Amino acid sequence: MRESDPVELAAAQPVTSLPGVGPALAKTLERLGLHTLQDLWFHLPLRYEDRTRLTPIRDLRPGDAAQVEGRVEAVERGFRYRPQLRVAIIDDSRATLLLRFFHFNAAQANQLVAGTRLRCYGEVRHGAQGLEMVHPQYRRVVDADAGAVEERLTPVYPVTEGLSSARLAGVIGRALQRLPQDADLELLPPDLCKICKLSGLRDALMYAHRPPPDADLAQLALGLHPAQQRLAFEELLAQHLSLKQLRARIREHAAPALRGEGRLRRTFLAGLPFAPTRAQTRVAAQVAQDLATQAPMLRLVQGDVGSGKTIVAALAALTAVESGYQAALMAPTELLAEQHYRNFRNWLEPLGIDVVWLAGKLKGKARGAALAQIATSAQIVIGTHALMQEGVAFRALGLVIIDEQHRFGVHQRLALRDKGRVTDSVPHQLVLTATPIPRTLAMTAYADLDVSVIDELPPGRTPITTVAIANSRRSDVIERIRSACVGGRQAYWVCTIIEESDLLQAQAAEAVHAQLSAALPDLAIGLVHGRLKPAQKQAVMDAFAAGQIAMLVATTVIEVGVDVPNASLMIVENAERLGLAQLHQLRGRVGRGSVESSCVLLYQLPLSAMARARLDVLRETGDGFRIAEKDLELRGPGEILGTRQTGQMALRIADLARDAHLLPAAQRAGATLLARHADLADKLIARWIGQSARYAGA
Ligand code: ADP
Ligand code: MG
Repeated sequence: MRESDPVELAAAQPVTSLPGVGPALAKTLERLGLHTLQDLWFHLPLRYEDRTRLTPIRDLRPGDAAQVEGRVEAVERGFRYRPQLRVAIIDDSRATLLLRFFHFNAAQANQLVAGTRLRCYGEVRHGAQGLEMVHPQYRRVVDADAGAVEERLTPVYPVTEGLSSARLAGVIGRALQRLPQDADLELLPPDLCKICKLSGLRDALMYAHRPPPDADLAQLALGLHPAQQRLAFEELLAQHLSLKQLRARIREHAAPALRGEGRLRRTFLAGLPFAPTRAQTRVAAQVAQDLATQAPMLRLVQGDVGSGKTIVAALAALTAVESGYQAALMAPTELLAEQHYRNFRNWLEPLGIDVVWLAGKLKGKARGAALAQIATSAQIVIGTHALMQEGVAFRALGLVIIDEQHRFGVHQRLALRDKGRVTDSVPHQLVLTATPIPRTLAMTAYADLDVSVIDELPPGRTPITTVAIANSRRSDVIERIRSACVGGRQAYWVCTIIEESDLLQAQAAEAVHAQLSAALPDLAIGLVHGRLKPAQKQAVMDAFAAGQIAMLVATTVIEVGVDVPNASLMIVENAERLGLAQLHQLRGRVGRGSVESSCVLLYQLPLSAMARARLDVLRETGDGFRIAEKDLELRGPGEILGTRQTGQMALRIADLARDAHLLPAAQRAGATLLARHADLADKLIARWIGQSARYAGA
């Protein structure tokens, strides 16, 4: 026990011990996981805004985040896809900026009248009518306050409904007044701090919350200030420790030893039109070895797009079935889950195996029937995250397979595992991902998993030729597709727009579909997007797979896993907006048959240097691992190896791509801590990750 009990008490003080924090605010803070003063100290800004100056509108550049002040010149209400409010402001530089709002109420609209002086902060982008800000933060300013600016950089905190970042900043500021001295705040033993060259924790925290007026915003924005790096190191260490601990806790449980005599597996392999690759055979053997023991398997199978991970999954599922247990396969999108369901049924129903489907959209009687089967006769269950919902009870779940892991979080993985929990026994876990993860990253992002790599593609694949073409040459591209499709080839045309909304994406895809149908009247062109009913989606995919549709216009719903070997042409619109990993995934939809495949990356001019570099990488290599490494090097704004790929590991300040150089030291420090100071490891985890429920029952 250290002598700093009083400090620990201070850290553990409830937020309500601060002046001005009553029960109502405390409840709101709770939603952010903020219970104690320590939680507030370590609730770090997401980013900073520079409101210390006003930028003349004339000097704005697309991509900048800027603060401007001007008078409303004109207001217009419009409707394109959905209601819009367009407000033009003009400032002393005599330049105009358009503000666009999609969500607004009457009071807001009434307030924004010509002549009103507005202070706006937002990101500048290219619009149809020049530069614009979409949903900027704004407020009216009276003339007397014109031009007054902040003195320091403004921290922007993660917030929740009913709590503004500014208000939260106030609360955190009060908590920081009770921040203890460094010696008391530091959890890591001094020798470890020395080895890892760690500077003072207290200063780092103060700097991150309150950067001084002269702070270098560019460095802060990149997260490369030594204070941020100091904190990122500790967070990565805590993450690593927590996953290690999680693994240890899971491995304390027993799992059913799944051996089987191999008859189903042999019959299955004999029925395939191809032989497994050496890599598939090797990885399947590693999996079989894990399954045969009573320690729960925790294995990640990583294999590039098209390397044939599904076969490995099927072999594992069959091992469970041979041993009298059930296997569940969960995929991140319904489209992919459906494809697995069809494949597994085609492969396995001839062997007399009962394959059951469960997705969120399954309702009423059909759902009831599926649930009844899952509780009794089902041998393999395939579906989306609906598999984890309440009310789904397995008869004897022995193996959980999770495809395209980067779409799921750690806790989702655990939730499905809990389904199979019977007294002290847990199911084995097999996780599949196409995301090539450099080793150091894997050791942190997946520290709880063993890793196998399928490092070989099935034979007979032809490399994909990739070209990047400016959208101004769109009609040439359309012409080329016409001749390719007339010659019997099939193509994907992928529409991407920035908006996350399903509806807008669907509308954009519909518009492109209409345009292409008009330009190519002699081709059968299909359309698939996230707003279609499952049956509609399925009908389109079936028609495409059967060759009745020559070209499929799609949103990025087809990004993961979709497998139509005859499709050999891929066009990606606005390719400059996508990250490398996503483009690589999309491109992986072609090059699956023996026909020579091509991928056309259409981009909008002007192209930033970063976007150009990304497109170049794709033109030069088809190797997913190289692409991931390049990605780390470039660290483009597309943010590839961020939270998404690492299973939504929710990081406060660290960034696995940016801070990869910190990982080896963090991993070494983790090993030292676990060996010598296990109690400190617990405290570190509590500080950075909290005692969240997902670890409680592990
Ligand atoms: P991914 O690893 O991207 O999930 P899939 O499992 O979808 O890849 O396999 C891609 C395609 O390759 C499928 O059409 C599958 O049938 C085929 N395939 C898998 N293994 C082999 C193999 N050993 N030889 C030939 N084709 C294979
Ligand atoms: Mg797959």
